[in-house]
Amino acid sequence: MGTTTVSQNLTRGGGFLIAAARPEDIFTPADLNDDQKLIGQTAEEFVAKEVLPLAPELEQHKEGLMPQMLKKAGELGLLGGGIPEEYGGTGLDKVSATILAEKLSAYGSFAVSHGGHAGIGTVPIVYFGTEEQKKKYLPKIATGEWLSCYCLSEPQAGSDSLAARTRAVLSPDGKNWILNGQKMWITNGGFADVYIVFAKVDGEKFSCFIVERKFPGFTTGAEEKKMGIKGSSTVPIFFENCPVPKENLLHEIGRGHIVAFNTLNVGRFSLGAYCLGGSKKVLEAASKYSKERTAFGKRLSEFGLIQAKLAEMAIRTYAVESMIYRSAGMIEGAMSAAQGDKTKQAMQVLEEYAIESSISKVYGSEVTDYCVDEAVQIFGGYGYHEDYPVARAYRDSRINRIFEGTNEINRMLIVQMLLKRAMGGALPLIPAAMKLGEEVLSGTAMEETADGPFAEEERSVAMGKKIFLQASGAAVQRFREKLADEQEIVAALANIVMEVYAMESCLRRAQKAAATRSEGGITAAMSDAARAFIYDAAGRVEREARTALAATAEGDMLRTQLSVLRRFAKREPVDGIALRRRVAAAVLAGDRYPFEGR
Ligand SMILES: Cc1cc2nc3c(=O)[nH]c(=O)nc-3n(C[C@H](O)[C@H](O)[C@H](O)COP(=O)(O)OP(=O)(O)OC[C@H]3O[C@@H](n4cnc5c(N)ncnc54)[C@H](O)[C@@H]3O)c2cc1C
Repeated sequence: MGTTTVSQNLTRGGGFLIAAARPEDIFTPADLNDDQKLIGQTAEEFVAKEVLPLAPELEQHKEGLMPQMLKKAGELGLLGGGIPEEYGGTGLDKVSATILAEKLSAYGSFAVSHGGHAGIGTVPIVYFGTEEQKKKYLPKIATGEWLSCYCLSEPQAGSDSLAARTRAVLSPDGKNWILNGQKMWITNGGFADVYIVFAKVDGEKFSCFIVERKFPGFTTGAEEKKMGIKGSSTVPIFFENCPVPKENLLHEIGRGHIVAFNTLNVGRFSLGAYCLGGSKKVLEAASKYSKERTAFGKRLSEFGLIQAKLAEMAIRTYAVESMIYRSAGMIEGAMSAAQGDKTKQAMQVLEEYAIESSISKVYGSEVTDYCVDEAVQIFGGYGYHEDYPVARAYRDSRINRIFEGTNEINRMLIVQMLLKRAMGGALPLIPAAMKLGEEVLSGTAMEETADGPFAEEERSVAMGKKIFLQASGAAVQRFREKLADEQEIVAALANIVMEVYAMESCLRRAQKAAATRSEGGITAAMSDAARAFIYDAAGRVEREARTALAATAEGDMLRTQLSVLRRFAKREPVDGIALRRRVAAAVLAGDRYPFEGR
């Protein structure tokens, strides 16, 4: 493959599966500039000083308190990052928006409320609004004078959101859309002023409307009694012959799905960033506690099994952080390079990286769930008590695998989007799979030579990509357009895709850090984290591929496929215990996630 083709593939959504990035190609947290760091610091301090102390009252839904917090955030410019400056926002670049989301996450309920307003409650107007709609709504949304929310789900239509029953019909005088129906689970719904509502025109054409709380026939229901994020507002909303001015149709009749799904792309990416921040916070709490608590005459932190937990939390968080900032840098690069109408181009860029956004959501949420679970375990019985910080984090974390498209739906989307791009020629996966087939036949497929300190990891990453091509190629050949019905195979392929992205992102970041930084300790611990992650992830890739292949082929064909897989997946053993002990030492040295900003 020529250099130009490689770099073209690299910048394509999903391109990481067929092109090898170099360390200098990827953005890492070490590349954050001072302005971006300052945004993160402002956000973190705001939550620590203004929001967290009020968490007990927020959890009790003290009247008006969450809106007050959001408005305060607005005064500091923390709500308008997604809004261009000409409409009163701060027009943050993607990397800044990512660190902002990450650093707002210390209190889950606030993070969710922020995302409901500044993310999915804002994006539809920014990207699909008319000039009048933007001028009317965005300046007030940017400051928090008006709070907003996103209303897609219904009692009977969650994942299957296009099955919505809320209807809109044009009034006889043609001046209003008359809405009837119900929405469910609306974050910020209890106090918002502006509602982005999806409804079917004449019961058929899925469309989007901007609805204001003050419109007649609009009501909200009682707060839902939730497992977690109790400080956030989640209510059903009702429309009973609710007139919505004709000019409040957002985008085009029958094109509401474009608004809905593109908005979710943005939301999913940010959700991963919020989760990343959450993982770091519980790691910090667990590390501190492990030094305070003694058992059998030792501090918990001295036990190997506790160190292994702290290390694994840090390692998986490192993988998420490496992926998310890599994606943010890629998205920002594509947006800066875009010519013409910046807003339109930005939407196209976000669509281009929809696969990476789903990865951010799925991997980010699953790692946070892993981290909160292990944090509770490290706290022991106290972890199960509301007076200690991790019980709430455990409850709050669980929602992230459910909303913004469940992780099951997102796994299927990852593969669906990849195949669509492959079939449409946007991503040359098919030629890559054919070339691999030829290499297997000619016996050259196993030749992956790399040298240097990460030679083994280089090989694992390269082989992970081949394994994806092998398993997906076999599945597509066998099931063709019916592959979507084989959900377990699709999920296995999605898991391989995510692991490959994570492995490569960890590796390139560690290489970049090793090449540009001289401080031994942390850079060495980062290399340890990358090694430990890649070794285990390579094992997961092999297992997922085996599952997929076993359901795809049989007899001699299966035996041949599995023997090829075994050769792809062959790797030298590593001492994962020693690697983890060193990573744990780095965590314990500062009682925090040790790789931030590196
Ligand atoms: C606290 C909270 C806040 C929320 N905030 C908002 C909001 O602000 N705006 C909004 O519009 N919505 C919001 N939601 C709704 C949320 O997006 C939905 O709950 C979610 O999309 C899942 O839909 P559902 O609950 O109907 O579950 P279902 O769609 O019934 O899914 C149930 C299970 O079946 C699985 N499943 C469904 N379809 C398939 C399939 N085709 N193949 C395989 N498995 C499948 C799902 O993955 C899940 O595991 C919120 C929900 C909660 C709990």
